[in-house]
Amino acid sequence: MSKSVLILPGDGIGPEVMAQVRRLLDRIGGFSLSEGLVGGAAYDVHGTPLADDTMAQALKADAVLLGAVGGPKWDSLPFADKPERGLLRLRKDMELFANLRPALVFDALAGASTLKTDLVRGLDLMIVRELTGGVYFGEPRGIEDLPNGERRGINTQVYTTSEIVRVARVAFELARKRDSRVCSVEKANVMESGVLWREEITKLREADYTDVALSHMYADNCAMQLVRAPKQFDVIVTDNLFGDLLSDCAAMLTGSLGMLPSASLGAEDANGSRKALYEPVHGSAPDIAGQDKANPMACILSASMMLRYSFDMAAEADLIDAACQDVLNAGIRTGDIVESGMTPVGTVAMGDAVLAAMDKRSGG
Ligand code: NAD
Repeated sequence: MSKSVLILPGDGIGPEVMAQVRRLLDRIGGFSLSEGLVGGAAYDVHGTPLADDTMAQALKADAVLLGAVGGPKWDSLPFADKPERGLLRLRKDMELFANLRPALVFDALAGASTLKTDLVRGLDLMIVRELTGGVYFGEPRGIEDLPNGERRGINTQVYTTSEIVRVARVAFELARKRDSRVCSVEKANVMESGVLWREEITKLREADYTDVALSHMYADNCAMQLVRAPKQFDVIVTDNLFGDLLSDCAAMLTGSLGMLPSASLGAEDANGSRKALYEPVHGSAPDIAGQDKANPMACILSASMMLRYSFDMAAEADLIDAACQDVLNAGIRTGDIVESGMTPVGTVAMGDAVLAAMDKRSGG
């Protein structure tokens, strides 16, 4: 049965990088691709950053691939119409509670990290961040006036057992396909929600995942360890707030925004498949949009994650990842990752090179 993928290129460099992904998916074949508008592009046509029709399509699709949203053209829109609202609605209505952010350092790019090369060479860790709960959504929240004339801002960190268990399951399952190690991160030393987090994950491991090694770490220590010895980690699972910070920290270990993919997953349905959204970590890069300068690899690697996690196509995902590695090894680079002595190539040429490398590896 053909696999339905809704493609939402979005704004800025989104359409340029997504065009390269389309070529690649066409080459692999077996997908039923449809395309829709999101972000500023959707606002310009529909007066909303995500039309109801597009939302309905996203809910029906086997997977959604998104480029990027936003740009100066839409910066002054009211909050509810801003391009980012389109993305937030997708995440919310698809109930995507687990955000997967791999931090993988390609050998050829180890020198691009701000850390010493030997600290990051061969780095391959995965951060699983809880995405729909915690302090960003907890009640009560708000800003209130106090009788003494002061004002008070309130947010509430809150997690329930089921919220913790479902994201922890994602982490344990992923670890089974990797190095079978999960590090759970919270602040159980100062937060009750952290105590609950630690207890529930420990219980779940004892019940269902004794084959996976589980360790615990306080979030502040984890931040330190990520820049001290990042290769000690396999899968990190953490809450929304800590995950927000730690995943950006881990991202920078790899050197360039143009290389970073991500996935957001929802609950399993009766057939064992999940709602899923795949997108590069970078934004719409208005400074280089429309100039054939954007690096399409983050988007290409997001598509590879889609093959791996939504469609169980590990061989094809491995082929894409290896092709990207070959291209980098051959010194073919876009401007963001170019090194001295190399001539940067454009977005389309990078797409050409990845396709050629795939063909070469598959004997085509
Ligand atoms: P950005 O990620 O768009 O760009 C930051 C810098 O990295 C820029 O110099 C850009 O040229 C460069 N860059 C990013 N992706 C690149 C790529 N693939 N190849 C080469 N260079 C790349 O972040 P920003 O400038 O802070 O934000 C620009 C717009 O994107 C804003 O409107 C912001 O709200 C939006 N944004 C959207 C998302 C998303 O769609 N998920 C994420 C972050 C920012």
